Formats: sequence, C-alpha cells, structure tokens
Amino acid sequence: MATILDGKATAREVRERVAAGVAALKERTGIVPGLAVVIVGEDPASVIYTRNKARAAKKCGMYDVLHRLPEETTEAELLALVADLNADERVHGILVQLPLPRGIDADKVVRAILPEKDADGFHPVNAGLLSLGQPASIPCTPLGILTILDRYEIDVKGMEAVVLGRSNIVGKPMAALLTACHATVTVCHSRTRDLTYHTSRADLLVSAMGRPEMITGDMVCEGVVAVDVGINRREDGTLTGDFHFESVAEKASAITPVPGGVGPMTIATLLSNVLALASTS
Ligand code: NDP
Repeated sequence: MATILDGKATAREVRERVAAGVAALKERTGIVPGLAVVIVGEDPASVIYTRNKARAAKKCGMYDVLHRLPEETTEAELLALVADLNADERVHGILVQLPLPRGIDADKVVRAILPEKDADGFHPVNAGLLSLGQPASIPCTPLGILTILDRYEIDVKGMEAVVLGRSNIVGKPMAALLTACHATVTVCHSRTRDLTYHTSRADLLVSAMGRPEMITGDMVCEGVVAVDVGINRREDGTLTGDFHFESVAEKASAITPVPGGVGPMTIATLLSNVLALASTS
C-alpha cells in the first residue's frame, strides 16, 4: 500500500520553522518580515484564500496587511497600490490574488511588483532566474511539493518525472524545479497526443490539470510517486484531485491525498518565501 504523503503535517512543520526563523531574524536584526496581500473583488474562494494567507502570516509573527479593494477598482488604482507597497519598508512580500477582475491586466500587475518583493514568484524576472537554475522567489505550490518529497526522503534525481499541465503558476515552474533537481522531465498538456504513454512510464507523476479523477490506476506504473495538485469540486460539494485515488494508490509507492496533500503546503511555502525575502532585504 502506498505511503500517504501528509501535506498537513509537513505544512505544520514548515510553519513552525518559519515562526522560529521570524523570531530569530527579529532578534538578530530588528527586521519583522511583512506580507501584503491584495484582493480585488468578492470572488468567494479568493476572499477565503487571502484571509487565510494574511492570518497565517500574523500567526507566525509577521507584519501582515490585507488590502480588500472593490470589484470596480481600476488597473491604475491597483498599480498605484502596488507602487506604494513596493516603497513600504515594512513589506517584504507582496501578493496580488489572481484571478483579477476583467479589465485589469494581471501580467502588468505582476510585472509591477518588485522582483525582490515577489512573494508568489510569478514575476518574469523570478521565472527567468528559476529557469536558469539561479536563486529566485519560487512559486509556492511547486516548491511546497519538493518540500513534501524531501520530508519523505524521496530523491527525484535521475527520476523520469512527468508533469501534467503547463500553467505559469504550477506546471512550468514545477518542470523547471524538477529539472534543477536533476529529474528527467516531460511536460504534458491538452494537446499531448497519448497521455497514457507518458503517465505509464513516470517514476514521479505530478498532475496539475484540474480534471477530476482523470488519471486512473491503469495509466500509471507500479511504484510511481503520485503527486496530485488538482482541486476539483464534485457535485455533492466534496473535493477530489486529478487522480482516481483508490486505483492510483493501489499501484503507487507514495501518493498525496486531496484534500490534505499539496493544498496545505501552498500557504506554508508562501510564509517561507516571505521570510527568505525579508532575510535578504
Ligand atoms: P490551468 O487551468 O491554468 O492549467 C491546466 C493545465 O492542464 C493546462 O496546461 C492544460 O493544458 C492542462 N490540461 C487540461 N486538461 C488536460 C487534459 N485533458 N490532458 C492533458 N492536459 C490537460 O490550471 P492551474 O495550473 O492553475 O491549476 C491546475 C489545478 O491545480 C486546478 O485544479 C487548480 O485548482 C489546482 N491548484 C491547486 C493548488 C494547490 O494549492 N493545491 C494551487 C494551484 C492550483 P493547455 O495548456 O494545453 O490548456
């Protein structure tokens, strides 16, 4: 039976390490790491995510500020706020919750954040540094996945890693990180001709498609390490990942559940990113 890779427990450990790091930095330098979270509009999921991110920052001893802007905020107003936060010495990490309402160019907003305050690692400078294998602020979800694998002493070096999805926030940075960690990486997407050909030869399979239970046990090989990023809501309101959990778990050596796998790592890793940004500021 597969080892269940426990994201909740791993995230708890990361938060404890961050809280200790925050206290140590404060004592050594007087610097209190600060996170500014910005949300535009009332998207219910985004409201919850942003509130949780700001609360988590406060809980580990950081300075936190949550800006809730109305739906009708203009791009110019949002860019002005980002400029203020760039200049605010109390703020070391800035996060603008995506998606943004129509009429605001998200790429432009992300580019307006100083790369050295880019808590999410979405700025093109950080994406470029990551793809060059140089120190960067790294997107939270892929970095959190590496932290989980590390906790369970799963070394990706030399593995055939297959990443399903090529988004800028998960798939692409995941592929870049795994490459930096010496895995041999294949990236699949909606135009991939024969998905099963790729999934069935993966030692490490990371799925970030947002396709409920699409990957079944007959598509993976014995012993695969299966990491499910997908968060999909069933009709009855419960959550499921991209894996058909029972059949994939039957063949996997290790697997992340949904919920309780990759999800909890995202905020914990965000905190860790902010601490790193404050430490180098
Ligand atoms: P996107 O919609 O931006 O990207 C999905 C990717 O999956 C695309 O590259 C798409 O291909 C590919 N894809 C879609 N359908 C198929 C298919 N049938 N076969 C092969 N590839 C396919 O999503 P995100 O990257 O933002 O998120 C992916 C999932 O991860 C979602 O369920 C999201 O909720 C979840 N998520 C979870 C997080 C967490 O903390 N656990 C954090 C972020 C996301 P193409 O490029 O060709 O369109």
